[in-house]
Amino acid sequence: MRALQKTQAGEGLEMTRVPVPEIGPDDVLIRVNKTGICGTDMHIWNWDDWAARTVPVPLVTGHEFAGEIVEIGRDVTDLSVGQRCSGEGHLIGRHSRQSRAGKFHLDPETRGIGVNEQGAFAEYLRLPAFNVVPLPEAIDDEIGAILDPLGNAVHTALSFDLVGEDVLVTGAGPIGIMAAAVARHVGARHVVITDVNPDRLALAARVADVVPVNVAEEELRDVFPRLRMKQGFDVGLEMSGNQRALDQMVETLTMGGRIALLGIPPGKSPVDWSRIVFKAITIKGVYGREIFETWYKMIAMLENGLDVRGVITHRFDAGAFREGFATMGGGASGKVVLDWTG
Ligand code: NAD
Ligand code: ZN
Repeated sequence: MRALQKTQAGEGLEMTRVPVPEIGPDDVLIRVNKTGICGTDMHIWNWDDWAARTVPVPLVTGHEFAGEIVEIGRDVTDLSVGQRCSGEGHLIGRHSRQSRAGKFHLDPETRGIGVNEQGAFAEYLRLPAFNVVPLPEAIDDEIGAILDPLGNAVHTALSFDLVGEDVLVTGAGPIGIMAAAVARHVGARHVVITDVNPDRLALAARVADVVPVNVAEEELRDVFPRLRMKQGFDVGLEMSGNQRALDQMVETLTMGGRIALLGIPPGKSPVDWSRIVFKAITIKGVYGREIFETWYKMIAMLENGLDVRGVITHRFDAGAFREGFATMGGGASGKVVLDWTG
């Protein structure tokens, strides 16, 4: 089968031919139809310090996918051949206290497909049946292929009650934009999204009913009177990993504000802790998706009017993966989806 592999330590990926994976008794084999390119895949493509430290070579990359089950393991009883699905790319252990308490997303033994284990940028993917999430009719393969990052957005956005709240999303990347759309969907009063990239802000405004602010050009506080805001934002969703964005969030949050942090700063970054103490701010770090509550809720929302399709701006055949990665690297796109059916 065709598979997009990191074949050697260094930049780039190569389309290679590898055997179709063999499945174990608790696995399924999925024919991959569509995959999404993630920021993580860009790190692996670029072979930065994190990738060099983390990713074994050779490795089939990719973790955002949708497809169809073509084979099921001997002991799998609740899935069937022909079923359309996506799936959780975090493979969890069963031994930690967290796993045994059912908090699967907090398992410290988690391994990621396309990062530590063979991934989804291929014609076939082996996945434990436990990780499979069947897709309803209403969710087609290209939306199925972005459920992983939508799940990051949903997990972050649902960290706090947003009903009637004024929400600040910092970073209008694909995940920030989807988080803003979710915040609107669940009943936030105002959603303001910031970035320094005008293309991304324009995309945000097309996808969701949000107030875009280019913080390279505008004062964020200038939106307060326009939105009848008195003190500041009630909830902040940090989706940029940028130090200045987090500072600005702390600065513009109201007393008792709440912050969910998904963005990953590149290294250690200073925080004005006294501001956080005096404003009595609550901060929650967010990793991955809640397994499987986030999947349940996002599918329910997609079936009930949440529309994030506009965040997909580019579609390529898998053979044109170089163009796909270049588009993603250009910084102006939303999600880029590769089609493996050709
Ligand atoms: P992205 O890089 O596409 O988007 C980040 C955006 O932040 C960019 O558009 C950038 O222009 C913008 N930005 C830069 N400086 C800014 C500033 N001062 N103010 C506001 N915006 C600014 O990233 P993405 O794929 O949308 O992911 C969002 C973040 O979440 C990234 O940091 C990513 O590493 C992280 N992430 C975390 C998890 C997790 O499990 N915690 C999972 C996936 C992604
Ligand atoms: Zn991803």
